[in-house]
Amino acid sequence: MSKLKMTLLENSKSFFIESVSKAVQAETSEEHWKFAILLLVQAIETCLKERLRCTQDVLIYSNIDKPKHTVDLWLAISRLEKISKIEFDASDISSIKTASELRNQIVHFEFNLSIDQIKSNFVTLVGFYSEFCQKHLEEDIIAELPSRLGQEVMNLDKYVDELEQRAKHRIESEGITPENVWQCSACKKDSFVIEDGIDTCYVCGYYEPTVECENCNESELESEIQEVDFGNMKGLENWKSFCRGCYEKLETDNPYEEYY
Ligand SMILES: [Zn+2]
Ligand SMILES: [Zn+2]
Repeated sequence: MSKLKMTLLENSKSFFIESVSKAVQAETSEEHWKFAILLLVQAIETCLKERLRCTQDVLIYSNIDKPKHTVDLWLAISRLEKISKIEFDASDISSIKTASELRNQIVHFEFNLSIDQIKSNFVTLVGFYSEFCQKHLEEDIIAELPSRLGQEVMNLDKYVDELEQRAKHRIESEGITPENVWQCSACKKDSFVIEDGIDTCYVCGYYEPTVECENCNESELESEIQEVDFGNMKGLENWKSFCRGCYEKLETDNPYEEYY
């Protein structure tokens, strides 16, 4: 009986090829984007494992004493940094975060992005994947794609690039201060404008109000704001909105000394 045995690298490449061909199909029916993203995340996870395997076989297992389940994205990254001595920069970590968030959303039926947002995320992840393969596995993954699929990747890249250029021009022409441009939580581009309550991404159109933290007065996305009750013993409620940073600080510090 013939068994399908592929190496991790072959596996990763086949996930990637399948992912791009799903992206092609998504041009005519959008529901394929879900699979395109899932397969791409799978390709990324598998190439990280392959790099761990190059350091030592057993490292691909989450518990090296019980080699049964393999590592997830975050454990892979942590071991690659600590043991394989690979350096990841902030944009790499942001890509991994994106990959893991998107997979969670899809698996939990919460995947609800516009086509521009999906395309932007897809292009970012392809960028991370191809760079990682080139730098750490000596594989030119894009060059190995069948030409039709390679062309698709190029087109998507160009499309997202154009959206970005347009956003950049708009930000310039409206004279937006650089501090008032954040990374968009939907498309991950640096194009989320918070000036004058605009609170909109100029690349993908994502809108989310920003709220001022009642502790440090910094702005924070509404979805990141944590509500904390500082009510007194008589049962009077006194809710305050905190940014994530202040909230986390509050959880580790003793709140009563500082806030009463
Ligand atoms: Zn956006
Ligand atoms: Zn704060």
